[in-house]
Amino acid sequence: MSEKFLSKYFGSSNSSKVDHYLDRGGYSEAKKIYKDKIEPEKLIEKVKDAHLRGLGGAGFATGVKWSFIPKESPKPKYLMVNCDEAEPGTFKDKHILLFDPHRLIEGILIACYAIQSHKCFIFIRGEYWEPYLSLKRAVEEAYKKGLLGKKVLGTDYNLEVVIHRGAGAYICGEESALLEAVEGRKGQPRLKPPFPAIEGLFGCPTIINNVETISYLPIVFELGAEKFRNLGTGRSGGVHLVSVSGHVKNPGVYEVPMGISLKEIIYKIAGGVRGGKALKAVVPGGISSPILTADEIDISYDFDSLNKAKTMMGSSAIMVMDEDTDIPEALLVATRFYAEESCGQCTPCREGCGWLYKILKRITSGAGRPEDLDNLIFIATNIAGNTICALGDAATMPVISYVTKFHDEFEAKIPIVCYA
Ligand code: SF4
Repeated sequence: MSEKFLSKYFGSSNSSKVDHYLDRGGYSEAKKIYKDKIEPEKLIEKVKDAHLRGLGGAGFATGVKWSFIPKESPKPKYLMVNCDEAEPGTFKDKHILLFDPHRLIEGILIACYAIQSHKCFIFIRGEYWEPYLSLKRAVEEAYKKGLLGKKVLGTDYNLEVVIHRGAGAYICGEESALLEAVEGRKGQPRLKPPFPAIEGLFGCPTIINNVETISYLPIVFELGAEKFRNLGTGRSGGVHLVSVSGHVKNPGVYEVPMGISLKEIIYKIAGGVRGGKALKAVVPGGISSPILTADEIDISYDFDSLNKAKTMMGSSAIMVMDEDTDIPEALLVATRFYAEESCGQCTPCREGCGWLYKILKRITSGAGRPEDLDNLIFIATNIAGNTICALGDAATMPVISYVTKFHDEFEAKIPIVCYA
């Protein structure tokens, strides 16, 4: 795997150690905020001004989300860091935990101060054993250095961090399912409203942010909101990490500015399609995102531009498919994933995802029926928008886009019925 980072903290074999981070000026932004007792409201305004958006998939404006916390509430406020990172094709948060966990912890210090929280939970997917060990060691180091715990950074502010390991369900990346899991129940999404910022963990106001989002906070404060914002484009500020996988010469995690062209990421940064083959398609933002054909990739890679192109940046997981890719088989893999990961609460998702998978299995095994392609679209359209959480929609977007854009490939797999 090839890795290239603009961030000064990445890239060294001991970059996960606290001394490495401190030696390079790490924790200085948190120190300034805590020692100078900067008003939380000012911190929130700065993050809003930087246009830092949620980098876990939803792209919601981080500062705006923080401002939903009811300041007058007597209940404790919590920060929940989402490190479930289970969207297929996504592996950027893992790199932060392995190579730069102290930037995440500094970000936690900043976010907790901004929302006046004294307790942070980090939910990490169970399969991430090495990243978990790296994070756990970093948290222990931070406690030993007085960066976490009682009277952090020599001030009168207390901040505890608890790491909670998941047990392997994709749906626990959905923020309310994640809260259920941390509370000790089966990880199933809650009906909203109330939203977590009002009534989240244990019924208390809770901000849920992705690992990468929190990890960019020290950089936002070091550069200043304007400079950070101007690294990006429009309403998507700064730089961010992309996970590039599939048929490229140099798969890996790269830090890129918001608004770089998707074509440039694939051809200049990831080295282009391996083996000199032609490009067939690109999944631009994790397996849920609608697929792009080869002639649709000359596009600005940011939340709004991809939405305009009827796809999404999602978790910034770019999966590249060369000319030899069997698109119906690729869709079969995606639908199997959703059929297995549906939590089963809502009928359209529970029954519909399994149904989509069964039809695709039939098509790819050569036993498809003439009505199957219309039925795929019909079922997907009836799941979308009719479920408790976004997994239902996520399951339908690949189906609709793959079948629509590569209709001939699906049709070619269905035997011609002769009624002689
Ligand atoms: Fe569960 Fe699917 Fe309903 Fe989400 S949409 S709550 S995953 S059944």
